[in-house]
Amino acid sequence: MKSTSRQLALSLAAVTLLSAAPGAQAPASSRTRTHVQTLASDKFEGRLTGSSGEKLAADYLIAELKRMGAKPLPGQADFRMPFAFTAGSKDGGTTLKTMTANGMERTHEPGTAMALSFSDSAEVSGPVVFAGYGLVVPESQNFGYDSYAGLDVKDKVVVVLRYFPEDADQKTRAILARYADLRYKAQAARQRGARGMIVITGPRSPNAGELVPMSFDTAIAGSGVVAVSVKGGAWLIEGNGRSLDEVQKELDSGNPHVAGFAVPGVTATINAKVIRQQQTGHNVVAYLPASGSVSGVSKPWVAVGAHYDHLGRGTTGGSLAGKDEVNQIHHGADDNASGTATVLAIADALARQPRKRHLLIAFWSGEELGLLGSAAFVSTPPVALDQLSAYLNFDMVGRVSDNKLTVQATGTSAMWPKLLEQANVAAGFDLVLQEDPYQPTDVGSFNTASVACLTFFTGAHQEYHKPSDTADKINYEDLDRVGTFAAAIAKRLLDGDQVPQFTKVEQKTETGGRAGLRLFTGTIPDYASDVKGLLLGGVIGGGPAEQAGLAKGDVIVEIAGQSITNIYDYTYALELLKIGQPAKVVYLRGGQKQETTLTPAARK
Ligand SMILES: [Zn+2]
Ligand SMILES: [Zn+2]
Repeated sequence: MKSTSRQLALSLAAVTLLSAAPGAQAPASSRTRTHVQTLASDKFEGRLTGSSGEKLAADYLIAELKRMGAKPLPGQADFRMPFAFTAGSKDGGTTLKTMTANGMERTHEPGTAMALSFSDSAEVSGPVVFAGYGLVVPESQNFGYDSYAGLDVKDKVVVVLRYFPEDADQKTRAILARYADLRYKAQAARQRGARGMIVITGPRSPNAGELVPMSFDTAIAGSGVVAVSVKGGAWLIEGNGRSLDEVQKELDSGNPHVAGFAVPGVTATINAKVIRQQQTGHNVVAYLPASGSVSGVSKPWVAVGAHYDHLGRGTTGGSLAGKDEVNQIHHGADDNASGTATVLAIADALARQPRKRHLLIAFWSGEELGLLGSAAFVSTPPVALDQLSAYLNFDMVGRVSDNKLTVQATGTSAMWPKLLEQANVAAGFDLVLQEDPYQPTDVGSFNTASVACLTFFTGAHQEYHKPSDTADKINYEDLDRVGTFAAAIAKRLLDGDQVPQFTKVEQKTETGGRAGLRLFTGTIPDYASDVKGLLLGGVIGGGPAEQAGLAKGDVIVEIAGQSITNIYDYTYALELLKIGQPAKVVYLRGGQKQETTLTPAARK
């Protein structure tokens, strides 16, 4: 891709020249190609949210918006609309002090003790109890394993081993591995009244004696637990005369009857300090004002949008790069320079025509991290959402093959099938309509906000989320046809007397649930939130949560007697529920504590 930057400079110069001459327009096809080639070039480094590549891409989009005469939204000074997100956590100087019965003090300075990424920042102290691997398998699994059986850990500091018994048979390991996530372990310790948790990696395990690295995590709420890992740490539990190696060997058999023990006379003081790293992403939002006054026009806004962010070098999750492509730029030509270019093409075409409604033009960031940009937009909308007639979304529209175009979310309004059919008379695609709006793209944010919406898609392919999703693989001729087709639909929406009425689509399968859960609750967790508790981004139509009266915006703080501070507590609590058995749910609505009963159904 060495020649790209020179080609780019040439085509940018061409665009500038053309725009300087009024009336002279580049044919749509060459512009679309330029947009995709530019956005997907090495220079933009995969457009990771919050990165300099994102900024370059936003600059490019803003220049294009200005060229076609679009303006920042009413009341906004700028096209850029920032939103904050948590990009990770780092240790802020955690320490661990221990004191033995004979007054020997020992301090782990930062670097030899480190907070776990989900730990609360706080100081706690208490007598030390060793709880083996700290594993608790819920009773519902019919597999008796409880590291805490017979142990009193209330107001104590629990020491646990990382991972799970090394020598157990495969079946046992498979079951235990599911509950070996340190969040589950921390949750189990907290449920039993422990004040804090210290993790050591046993001499018989991988990464023996090492700290647990702090990992990137978008579910950032404090867990309600103070938890650290320490380097080495054998001495923490060797106070009763046996070596850690010996103790671990016994546990490693997987025998559930090997018990933990209190360490006589040893107390520990954990001072955990976690710094959550806030970053800022930028949506780029503009509008083309209606030609005349919109007073008396029902729902006077129509929106088109696409996410312009991608995976950068694929280091923060979502990458499907092969071993030989690790850390390379993920170009994201189809995902989603193609959709971005289509939105520019639609806006460009409509800019030159009169219109009854305003056209809102949105380029989202943070989509690849969990629809963050569009979710921020609908949660504090700069244009009242009930003034929005419809939202059209474009994500991966550059790989038309066999004339096939998929349009999803058609169930969000009874008006869509006919409108699509009419517009397609001129376009001539082999349309595939799918009603389901619960798609892993920004259309989901608008469906949740009860806005009639559609999303256009030309199908998955080999290069999806890989560095090889490059501009040369885009089918530009058909990409322009998608733009022309969608512009015709947008035009009808802009000028029509009839506004699509939103219809709520019942969801068959839960989005965002943990794979393998057999239980269906119909909740849609808001993963981007950092409130304490589980914030509902929505509930699934007809599902148990909706039947229980729960709704978007509610914060679940307790379920079946388990307190919930974050999504991990929640998934843990779900393991304890039984299909068909009502469970008490305590939740906050508008700051008020309320109660209801939810009866989980079986997942289909
Ligand atoms: Zn995408
Ligand atoms: Zn993607």
